[in-house]
Amino acid sequence: MTEKKQGDRAIGMGSAITRRDFLGSALLGSGAALLQGLTPAQVLAARAQAGNTPASDWNGYSGIGDYAGSNGNTWEVLTAGHKLRDSVFEEAVGSAIETGETYDCVVVGGGISGLAAALFFLRRAGPNATCLVLDNHAIFGGEAKQNDFEVDGQRLTAHQGSAIYFVQYPRSFLAQFYDSIGLKNPRLEYQKWGGPGPEMTIGRTPYDSAGMSSGQYGFWFGAQFGKKPGVWQIDPVGRAFAQAPVSETTRKELIRWYSGDAEKAAPFTHPKYEGDTVSRYLDSMSLEDFYIRQYGLSREFIRTFLSPDLGGGAGLGADALSAYSDFAFEMLHPSKDEAEAVQMFPGGNTTIARLMAKTLIPEAISGDTTPEGVSLGKVNQGALDRKESRARIRLGATAISVQHEGAAEKSDFVTVVYAAGDKLFRVRARSAVMAGGSWTTKHVVKDLPTAHQEAYAQFFRSPCMMANVAVRNWRFLAKMGITGCRWFGERVGNYFELRRMATVGNIARTISPDSPVVLTLKVLYSYPGLSTEDQGNKGRREMISTSFREYERRIRQQLTEMFSDAGFNGERDIAGIILNRWGHAYLSPQPGFYFGKDGKPAGREVLRAAPFGRIAFANTDLAGSMDHRFSILEAERAVNQLLDQVVTL
Ligand SMILES: Cc1cc2nc3c(=O)[nH]c(=O)nc-3n(C[C@H](O)[C@H](O)[C@H](O)COP(=O)(O)OP(=O)(O)OC[C@H]3O[C@@H](n4cnc5c(N)ncnc54)[C@H](O)[C@@H]3O)c2cc1C
Repeated sequence: MTEKKQGDRAIGMGSAITRRDFLGSALLGSGAALLQGLTPAQVLAARAQAGNTPASDWNGYSGIGDYAGSNGNTWEVLTAGHKLRDSVFEEAVGSAIETGETYDCVVVGGGISGLAAALFFLRRAGPNATCLVLDNHAIFGGEAKQNDFEVDGQRLTAHQGSAIYFVQYPRSFLAQFYDSIGLKNPRLEYQKWGGPGPEMTIGRTPYDSAGMSSGQYGFWFGAQFGKKPGVWQIDPVGRAFAQAPVSETTRKELIRWYSGDAEKAAPFTHPKYEGDTVSRYLDSMSLEDFYIRQYGLSREFIRTFLSPDLGGGAGLGADALSAYSDFAFEMLHPSKDEAEAVQMFPGGNTTIARLMAKTLIPEAISGDTTPEGVSLGKVNQGALDRKESRARIRLGATAISVQHEGAAEKSDFVTVVYAAGDKLFRVRARSAVMAGGSWTTKHVVKDLPTAHQEAYAQFFRSPCMMANVAVRNWRFLAKMGITGCRWFGERVGNYFELRRMATVGNIARTISPDSPVVLTLKVLYSYPGLSTEDQGNKGRREMISTSFREYERRIRQQLTEMFSDAGFNGERDIAGIILNRWGHAYLSPQPGFYFGKDGKPAGREVLRAAPFGRIAFANTDLAGSMDHRFSILEAERAVNQLLDQVVTL
């Protein structure tokens, strides 16, 4: 047996649950290096030539339940998207199959923004109005989806992307919207401590760093710091980073930042509303420069320790982002006690997307229109796209062309062509909402005016991979006395954290070190020093060209290196791994994105100001903040524009 094979066996490669449905993957196990320098399309072609079927090599295991087969952007979604970008369909558009359908509105994109647009349209456009939602995935929800595992008889659920929501002021538009879709009690109940031993500090979301204040948090310093094996610093703030293998200067910076002293010493008055003087000041500089100027941190410190998580988690180096990106989400003020206001369903905002789908089409999911109901209920694929329904959701459908029939200002209809499988279909609509996001909309709307094209050219999106790792228990963490941890450098992700699940649906009522849990590793690709666009492209190349098997190996190796001393055994303890690859996960706003630059208006303002002909624009990226609340608000604005300015009787 080769050394590599022995190593693979030791870390548990080949264990049942992750191998079940992609057995051909060994061929490309070490292929990533050979694929460097190729474009994503060439990488895909090379993989196909090597005999690796996409499902076996790239998608990997995808869990059970409604979301099996729809983990992130699957190979099928990605391939159709790249064909759209590369104009592969262009010649065939003219001969698309005519479905004979005409809708009052076609919505492109079945994420939270698209579902909200369909709801607003049907609620406001009159009792006979019709709406078709097209989405390229196997299930609706966009980035608001979940993964389900079954581990030792217990159902485990974790978010694929969109995770937290806030309790809004009860009279607010958003609170009333939540109420209208069945989210009537947004304050959830969470798992209780199930012992044995004293209760450990566990937050409600993967972003709380809950253990930091109680000393139950660890920082791991590995090869990047010259440590192999790596070393742990448990309770980093309480113990003043004494064990961290860093210079005295860096130690002082670590203490200053993570104790909160840096922010206390230089209090900053946050912007109060979008467009005020403070927000414009912030948008005039990079986030990295702001942190240096405001808190006196060094560039190197920011790049080594803070970079990928800044800017609302946009994923890129802080040098590539507008400083305002760190504050944009604060402009929708939730209820006063912010910590209390943060909530999360077991599968994140999936539950909100499911409530929306069920409100649109009551038979779409079995059970009640409540969080509990849609969590326990099953999606009825057959009910989503029924002829007799005013609302229809068509899945596995990539819109490739939306175009006015004749000149935009005079036309009464748009023609929409979409690809499903290897066929193209055509429908007509009196109006359209483009809710799919900047990276596809700019290719899909064929008659987009130059000003709109230039506006979309200011949108850059960065990749993110959410790796959900189901473990049979977390005794190894309890033994170390931690509930969350952080690490640095070119590894898979930067942190993970246990969370007490909201007890909605099929979720155990207590949590203890013996409980199976999902560890979510958020993998961001930041390359400080490169431009916003180049950082995104480089990250996408890296994410696309790495096979499931290779990521699985890296994750297993990493967890083994970090936790084997505490009793972790990859072969025994890892019950499953699901990768959710989002090629265009986050909008990454560069300086000037929000309020314009050099006297020119911000691109997003051009797109939000008015519809273009019969087409209005939505998606959270127009707000410059990746937050489902903005997805809803942008959808409302787009639909109102259509109803006020476009649709006539
Ligand atoms: C890793 C991650 C974590 C996040 N965490 C949070 C969080 O904690 N809280 C929060 O509020 N937000 C979070 N977000 C932000 C998230 O983007 C929003 O919450 C929300 O889900 C976005 O909804 P959307 O409809 O605007 O966009 P999307 O969810 O991207 O939906 C657009 C849909 O349209 C599809 N589409 C695009 N082009 C086409 C086409 N041509 N034809 C057919 N379909 C198309 C897309 O594939 C997608 O399904 C997170 C995002 C990511 C990536």
